[in-house]
Amino acid sequence: MTEEPTAEINETDISFDCPNCGKNHVIDFRGAGLQINCSACGKSMLVPIPAGMELGDLDLDTGEILQQLFASRRNHQKAEMEIQKLKATLVQMQETLAVMQKVIEEGLAAGDADA
Ligand SMILES: [Zn+2]
Repeated sequence: MTEEPTAEINETDISFDCPNCGKNHVIDFRGAGLQINCSACGKSMLVPIPAGMELGDLDLDTGEILQQLFASRRNHQKAEMEIQKLKATLVQMQETLAVMQKVIEEGLAAGDADA
């Protein structure tokens, strides 16, 4: 998390209002023409392309694209590991659940026997 874009507004940022709820959004100019969801109302909206800006101007250079590729690959790998961990946790919980169900069933059976 060392390369997070700064929160300050740059002059290249695009400022626009959500057509649905009117909330103002400021987004990096590279987001021009993308469809995003409004953080306020959740409706999807198109980021306007500023006058005079060509979509070709928005294409990233290959170095940047590769960096994003590497980053998404790392994130993918992390997610895969997370999934494996969650699967192991799920198995454990299912085993615990099975034990608890058995205990409950035995308890109910014992209760029936008492009745
Ligand atoms: Zn909105």
